Amino acid sequence: MLRSLNPLLFGLGISPLHHCKLRTLSNLPKIVSFSVLRPSPLSPRLLALYSRSGGPFMAFRMSSGGLDSSSSDADGVTLAPPAVWKPRIRFCQSCGGATKQVIPDGEEKLRAVCSVCGKIHYENPKMVVGCLVEHDNKVLLCKRNIEPSYGLWTLPAGFLEIGESAMEGAMRETLEEACAVVDVISPFAQLDIPLIGQSYIIFRAKLKTPHFSPGPESLECALFAPEDIPFGSIAFSSITVTLKMYIEDIKAGSARFHYCTINKRPGASPSDPNGFEVDNHMHL
Ligand SMILES: [Zn+2]
Repeated sequence: MLRSLNPLLFGLGISPLHHCKLRTLSNLPKIVSFSVLRPSPLSPRLLALYSRSGGPFMAFRMSSGGLDSSSSDADGVTLAPPAVWKPRIRFCQSCGGATKQVIPDGEEKLRAVCSVCGKIHYENPKMVVGCLVEHDNKVLLCKRNIEPSYGLWTLPAGFLEIGESAMEGAMRETLEEACAVVDVISPFAQLDIPLIGQSYIIFRAKLKTPHFSPGPESLECALFAPEDIPFGSIAFSSITVTLKMYIEDIKAGSARFHYCTINKRPGASPSDPNGFEVDNHMHL
């Protein structure tokens, strides 16, 4: 989600932790032991980033941690999206000519088609990735420092970048938004939001070290016990649904993988708790 900073982070070789004021949590249990795990299959870019922020890369697992405009931001609808999707590309990405909305021969959907060179521009959903970070039987939330949903709480999540896996993207977003270095434990949920063309993949993760602090896009980061999650102040429908699934799993006593479709009401704000319905909820 930190698009503007990415060139700084990766192009100029600056660690995002330079932007984050790390703090140690005084109320966290001491790490009594750790095991060195096989390094995660990270890209050289993320590997280098982790190495710069914490010395030689090794994956540590703590043993005592316990336990909608749709293009503006993750789940960030700021304008009422159309009930029927219409192409939004106005100019050809090849020749710069104006596009027109037509249904090409052999197709069924409206497309933006260049009136000069005839190129058909396909628009596809965007992938949003993030982490549900657990520590000491609590979950890490970030209070947003940007619109949409400024001042509301979210899981660290954002748009997947070209060249990274979903897991790498989720770890990067967690580092950028919460300055937290994490171990991914397992995939947790996939949530599709057809109306705004987004698909979320959320991973369960643990803090690698008991440190986090707000990155530039966050006002505050904090651990919440399940009963204390501020459901009245959650930034996005996708995060509300994810956290409710998480609590469902806690009550069920098992960690599961979930899938669902979030059907948003056209015009509903990203954080409207009554602005969506959940369909096709399945879990493994
Ligand atoms: Zn063209």
